Amino acid sequence: MSFPTAHDLIARLEAGETTARQAAEASLATIERQNPQLNALLAVTAEQALADADAADARRQAGKPLSRLDGVPIAVKDNMCTRGVPTTCASRILENFRPPYDATAVRKLREAGAVLLGKANLDEFAMGSSNEFSAFGPARNPWNPECVPGGSSGGSAVAVASGMVPWSLGSDTGGSIRQPASFCGVVGMKPTYGRVSRYGLVAFASSLDQIGPFAQTVEDAALLLETIAGHDPLDSTSSTVDVPKYSETVRNGSLKGLKIGRPVEFFDVQGVDPEVTAALNAALDKAASEGAEIIDVHMPIATEYAVSAYYIIAAAEASSNLARYDGAHYGFRAPDTADIVEMFSKSRAQGFGAEVKRRIMLGTFVLSAETFDAYYVRAQKARTLIQRDYREALEKVDVIAAPTAPTAAFPLGSKLEDPVQMYLADIFTLSLNLAGYCGLSLPVGRTSAGLPIGLQLFGGAFEETRLLQAAWQVEQVVK
Ligand code: GLN
Repeated sequence: MSFPTAHDLIARLEAGETTARQAAEASLATIERQNPQLNALLAVTAEQALADADAADARRQAGKPLSRLDGVPIAVKDNMCTRGVPTTCASRILENFRPPYDATAVRKLREAGAVLLGKANLDEFAMGSSNEFSAFGPARNPWNPECVPGGSSGGSAVAVASGMVPWSLGSDTGGSIRQPASFCGVVGMKPTYGRVSRYGLVAFASSLDQIGPFAQTVEDAALLLETIAGHDPLDSTSSTVDVPKYSETVRNGSLKGLKIGRPVEFFDVQGVDPEVTAALNAALDKAASEGAEIIDVHMPIATEYAVSAYYIIAAAEASSNLARYDGAHYGFRAPDTADIVEMFSKSRAQGFGAEVKRRIMLGTFVLSAETFDAYYVRAQKARTLIQRDYREALEKVDVIAAPTAPTAAFPLGSKLEDPVQMYLADIFTLSLNLAGYCGLSLPVGRTSAGLPIGLQLFGGAFEETRLLQAAWQVEQVVK
């Protein structure tokens, strides 16, 4: 059910064996076949995609492709602004919003000639771990449609795993790229905070949000990351650190002597499915047999406090960011209201779903004068200590290995009634965003029920080159 990898497609485009038009048509045919069941894409931009593909073919024929990606199809999570194309954040409150501008990551894709096929489903405003909080119905896992695809970037993961597109973009605030990648059996990467511009990414928690790639292979993820990364004057938190050509060096690493940290506490967490642990240990054993050194490291704070610190900080930032949806500026406005206060409150009450409201209330509570010190300030202190856990571990090793999620994909509906169970499923991904470092998930095995299992690797700040090289090596030994 897979599309060729982006690299395979590029090779065939370069050799004149296929065209961007054919690639776009193949994408559209798969979308037509699969999307009614999987609900991965909320909007399909068929007409524009075919026109863009024809333009890419004309450029290539003239010997002037915009980049290696010219004419390669892609899908983008629906919380990134796309000019003239609906950008809903899977929320009723933005149901009819068509942004007048492109997010910087989207602009960079267009400048490289990538062909946008559609906007991918997500949990409303990227809040969730299962895609079930989408106002437009959940995306479903292609390996078992009765299971969730993970979230919040579920649609982006499904679009790649089901072969609708060779790759896609998601956003990761606390695991929203890595966890769905793990559940759907694809590669998903969260770059270092500041590596990719957040301009035009609808803000959830601004100190944690980061855009990143989904792909079938580590090499494809490297190429997509180098295309979207880099400094942007429109995002004051974007970094000026140079963007290396990750795709050109991704194969240059070696497992010989590579130090892989194994955080003891991550592997001791209660409730991890033994099949997950077995698959990860098998992958690490294979890496060790090729010369990698597996070294025990300790990250106790990152394990113990990640869930509580994250759900305080992320909710606090969300409550502030989501204040702008008031029915007055843009988006949904409740009809028949008596005065402006009623218009604000009814628009928000009717426009937001239950999980988003829960976060806004939680965030408003932890930021209120009486509770600020007890929750918000303490969570920020925990964040500093979590960062220290990462820094100290990464002084001893090149990369850190961890489970991406405690289990493989869970059945639809199984955690919906219990928010804490849903939050606990994020235990292994949240701390990386609090630390700000880079990480990815890559598929390393399957459960007996045939569901994918992901291994997470973490790297230091702006150490994407090393992280991708290590991941490529591991990918080869688990193939
Ligand atoms: N699952 C986490 C949450 O619900 C992370 C979401 C994300 O990374 N966008 O907040």
